[in-house]
Amino acid sequence: GSMALYLLLALLAAGVAFWALGRPVSPEQELARALAKEEFIPYLQPVVKAIDGGYTGCEVLMRWQHPQQGMIPPDRFIPMAEASGLIIPMTSALMRQVRERFAPKAKALPVGFHFGFNICARHCQDLSLVEDCRAFLKAFAANPVKLVLELTERELIESTPMTDRLFAELHDLGIFIAIDDFGTGHSSLTYLQKFQVDFLKIDQSFVGMIGSDALSSHIVDNVIDLATRLGLMLVAEGVETQLQADYLRAHKVDFLQGYLFSRPLPMAEFERLFPTLDKS
Ligand code: C2E
Ligand code: CA
Ligand code: CA
Ligand code: CA
Repeated sequence: GSMALYLLLALLAAGVAFWALGRPVSPEQELARALAKEEFIPYLQPVVKAIDGGYTGCEVLMRWQHPQQGMIPPDRFIPMAEASGLIIPMTSALMRQVRERFAPKAKALPVGFHFGFNICARHCQDLSLVEDCRAFLKAFAANPVKLVLELTERELIESTPMTDRLFAELHDLGIFIAIDDFGTGHSSLTYLQKFQVDFLKIDQSFVGMIGSDALSSHIVDNVIDLATRLGLMLVAEGVETQLQADYLRAHKVDFLQGYLFSRPLPMAEFERLFPTLDKS
C-alpha cells in the first residue's frame, strides 16, 4: 500500500535529480529563466548638482534578485548577458520597470530630472533601442524627464550605416548621450562629435586619486582639464569623501555621484529621498 507509494515517489525523485544533473542548465538558460521571472531589477543612485547638492537625476543599475543566491551584482552576470545578447531584452525590461513606476508620479520629481541607463555597444546595433527610448519618453510626456544613455569608453562603438541611423533617431527623440568611464579608453574628439555626446562621466578610478600623492593628482587634473576643454557637461562618479567633492566642485565639475551622497537604492527607498514623490 503506502510503502509501495513511498518507494515509487523516492524512485521518481531520484530519477528527476539524475535527469537534472545529467543535463546541467547553461548560464544562458539560467539568465533566460531569470528574465522571464523578472528577477532583474533596477537600483537607482542619485546624481547631485555640484554647486548645491540638489538631486538632478539618477543612474539605473541592474541587480539580479536571485531566489536562492540573494542579490547578485552586475559584474557577475552582465558579461554573460552581453555575450548571449540577452542584455537587450534585459535592458528593455529594466527601462519598462522604471518607466511604469515613475511616469505616473513624475510631477513630484525635480524639473528636468534625468534617468541614465547603461547601454552596451552591441545594443547600439539594434533599432529596438529607439523604440524602448520612445516608449520611455512617451510615458513621461505630461511631465518630461531627460533620458541619458551611458556608453562605456572601454568599448567604442563602430560607426556603421545601422549605428548612424540609430543615433540619428535617438538624437531626433532628444536623447542625451554620456561617455561612461571617461579616461579609461580612447575616445577622440571626432568620436565625441560623431555620436553627439552631451556628458562625460569621469571614471571613479581618477576620483579615487584625489587627495593622494602628487603624481596621481596630476593625472586627475589632466583628465578634468581634457574633459573641460571638450566643453561637455561633466559628471564625476565614485565620489566618496567631502575632500573629493570639494576638489571636483572647485574644478568646475557639474555633477557628482557616489556613496558620499547615496548608494544605489531599490526604487521604494529611492522614492523616500523625495518627500513629494513618496506621498504621491
Ligand atoms: P558603472 O556604469 O561605472 O556604474 C558605477 C558603479 O560604481 C556601480 O556599480 C555603482 O554602484 C558603483 N558606485 C557608485 N558610487 C560609488 C562610490 O562612491 N564608490 C564605489 N567604490 N563605487 C561606487 P555596480 O552597480 O556594481 O555596477 C557595476 C557595473 O556594471 C557598472 O559600472 C556598469 O558597467 C555595469 N552595469 C550595471 N547595470 C547595468 C545595466 O543595466 N546594463 C549594462 N550594460 N551594464 C550595467
Ligand atoms: Ca554607468
Ligand atoms: Ca562608470
Ligand atoms: Ca566604472
